[in-house]
Amino acid sequence: MSDHSPRIGFVSLGCPKNLVDSERILTQLRSEGYEISPSYQGADLVVVNTCGFIDAAVEESLDAIGEALDENGRVIVTGCLGVKEDEVRAAHPDVLAVTGPHDYESVMHAVHLHLPAPHDPYASLVPPQGVKLTPRHYAYLKISEGCNHRCTFCIIPQMRGDLVSRPLGQVLQEAENLVNAGVRELLVVSQDTSAYGVDMKYRQDLWQGQLVKTRLRELAQRLGDYQAWVRLMYVYPYPSVDELIPLMAEGNILPYLDMPLQHASYPILKAMQRPAAAEKVLERIQRWRQECPDLTLRSTFIVGFPGETDDDFQQLLDFIREARLDRVGCFTYSPVKGAAANALPNQLPEALKQERQARFMAVQSEISAEKLQEKIGREMIVLVDEVYPELALARSAADAPEIDGNVVIPGGWDLEPGDFVEVRITGSKAHDLVAEPVDTEE
Ligand code: SF4
Repeated sequence: MSDHSPRIGFVSLGCPKNLVDSERILTQLRSEGYEISPSYQGADLVVVNTCGFIDAAVEESLDAIGEALDENGRVIVTGCLGVKEDEVRAAHPDVLAVTGPHDYESVMHAVHLHLPAPHDPYASLVPPQGVKLTPRHYAYLKISEGCNHRCTFCIIPQMRGDLVSRPLGQVLQEAENLVNAGVRELLVVSQDTSAYGVDMKYRQDLWQGQLVKTRLRELAQRLGDYQAWVRLMYVYPYPSVDELIPLMAEGNILPYLDMPLQHASYPILKAMQRPAAAEKVLERIQRWRQECPDLTLRSTFIVGFPGETDDDFQQLLDFIREARLDRVGCFTYSPVKGAAANALPNQLPEALKQERQARFMAVQSEISAEKLQEKIGREMIVLVDEVYPELALARSAADAPEIDGNVVIPGGWDLEPGDFVEVRITGSKAHDLVAEPVDTEE
């Protein structure tokens, strides 16, 4: 066993963008405890970050790889020329690994494989993207804390205070770290996502040399630049949501809105003190669907709220029949210690709440099943979550992790969690779809 920290030689070629990539790889190497060697001879392994922009650059890169092989013998190739792996391997069959541009994760993986990192109990336990509790291919991106509303059934504002948004630059930096660490789907969360930036009066923040407003549309647009799915959760139907629909229609972010509506009867929404209670939700949903036909709408509702009459409940059923939402959760009202709604008159008996919940779910299950059935025969991209010998579980743009359904892919396909795969829908169940990969060779 070597008595020194593992040492990496590093050759950086090409443009400033490549230089930044080199800096990031070097930063990561240093933070993991690798030393950087100024000479080939002193290095245990050499990384060559190549350029492949023009023929002369390809030649220079191939020469640099040859030189590193002659002088050191153990070489990992990354950067722009990495996309032409065949060309690199034809010229230099002995390179240890070839990875592409902006692919820090793959290059770090190759380094770890051929030269394991030293263990540093202080530095190596916390990766730059922080400690994540989700599977490594998706992550929740929290954009604010607290809430300015005072819904009568909720005590979150009492516990967490008023809305405090995180500055846009900070959120985007975290998103970038996550994507660089291999995250394929960012789930934007908060108590009230549409209100992002309200507390800061949409103050501008510096991001990559530009001043950008701390506002949901601007944030969503920037997040959409990353090679990852972007899914917005807990979006209240404020008028500003209209601005997000074009981003969804253009494929910038996922055409998915998780919008907790809670009820459809005005007196109940008023008693709940819901934000956006007066908005004409049905009309707007129709408009959004015209603009973005693939839009998936998820919502949650509470039945049996104090004072809910048969008529209020009927209005709710009429609403869900007309709105034909894709995914719906329904809870019976239950008092939370400290919530204002506890003091409201006309609390309903538990049996009635349960009965309404069952009736609600019977209506919605039919709608959800019909909507899933309409997808049979369609082709779509899915993200693989889990792989078993006999099947893989994936999700489409219409499915948020944990709360929505799955796309089940039977058979022993060569898939891995985090893969994006194009599939054809072959069947549907109550909540899930069944699919097979589309053979791109055909
Ligand atoms: S339910 Fe949501 S919007 Fe209403 S107070 Fe609680 S956190 Fe805020």
